[in-house]
Amino acid sequence: MAVQLKWPMLGIVIPCALISLLAYGAHFFVFRGHMSLNEQIWYEISITMLWISYVLAIVVKPGSPPRNFSPKAGEWRRWCKKCQNYKPERCHHCKTCGICVLKMDHHCPWTNNCVGHRNFPHFIRFLVLVLCNTAFVMIKLCERVGQYYEDRNLPSYLVDKTEMFFVILLLPIDIFVLLTVFILFIRCITNFIFKGMTQIEIWEMERIESQIYTERLWLQIRKNYESLHGKPMPQLSSWNRTARFYETEASDPDSDAASASEPTGNSAATESHSIVPQDFTVDDIVFPYDLGIWQNTVASCGYPWSWFLPWCGPPSSGIHYKKNEYMDDDELSLPWPPDGGHQEALLTPREDPDISAADLRNLADLRRRLDPRQHMSRAEWTNDLGESLDDFGVDLDAEDTEHDHLIAK
Ligand SMILES: [Zn+2]
Ligand SMILES: [Zn+2]
Repeated sequence: MAVQLKWPMLGIVIPCALISLLAYGAHFFVFRGHMSLNEQIWYEISITMLWISYVLAIVVKPGSPPRNFSPKAGEWRRWCKKCQNYKPERCHHCKTCGICVLKMDHHCPWTNNCVGHRNFPHFIRFLVLVLCNTAFVMIKLCERVGQYYEDRNLPSYLVDKTEMFFVILLLPIDIFVLLTVFILFIRCITNFIFKGMTQIEIWEMERIESQIYTERLWLQIRKNYESLHGKPMPQLSSWNRTARFYETEASDPDSDAASASEPTGNSAATESHSIVPQDFTVDDIVFPYDLGIWQNTVASCGYPWSWFLPWCGPPSSGIHYKKNEYMDDDELSLPWPPDGGHQEALLTPREDPDISAADLRNLADLRRRLDPRQHMSRAEWTNDLGESLDDFGVDLDAEDTEHDHLIAK
């Protein structure tokens, strides 16, 4: 869940206090008596690296589009009302920083800075160093706990009470920081490396998924397709569903009726001339910037030789992004997001759906049909964690989605 602080400076003060307490409290009150001078020097070097990466994550800007930026053919022409400038793909205006941010991931309250294209490696380096240092502190403190257990029969005047107090104080705080940062790190790495997506793009994908069978989404997608390609959208087919259909056919020849008429969950979708494609799922929508694990890693964190150099950033400018080869085969073939964040109003007022006995056999489909979020606008929509676009720091007032349009190829 997104954290919003009343006083933004607290976002810097709290991590600084935690780092100082854990790093120097553990060194001065616990490690000093049990580590060699060499080990203590290496420990302090790694703490200094942590401070450097934190300062860089705070001061290095994520990057903004140049004043004269103009999108290319095949891209969205999106206007920022506050910067009075066009925005490149993947760029959003941050309500806290007050600037357009290249490849915006989220506004981080703990660095009081946006995480975006240019400072993402600094942010990841900071998280990695926090994980390494807190894991080291945890292991060393646990060793002390083990030693106390072994010495449990010693007279109490032989036990250093101050050291024991700090072990008991620091160990739970250290484990809490380690687990919290680990969850954030896994979320960032999974999104960026395995999917090539920012957190905002993951959110957009979840929104599209929850609205994939609505007419209003497809009205907008059809309109966008026509303005990009200059022709009406063809009838879309699903390679996922086709593959599943043939798999079922091959394994069970008697199950044709069930698989061929798989419910789409929308009465409109069952008609042959429906606005909603009959045989198309969210899995068929290609995310344009997922280039595979290696290229995703290099695009966001730079080449491996630069990962440990505190000043290194990503290799590209962050203005235009390479698209994957699936975009050439994709029948939809639209820049991200395919609806541009804008949707037509509902054609007819929403009615209470009839729930039949057949519907009750497919609860996942029924749950999706009854999800009130499928009729929400982008500004209202929230993901399963309750996060809206606003929670990632995006300034929706700066957007002009009504007038955004695609530049024809
Ligand atoms: Zn802006
Ligand atoms: Zn920001």
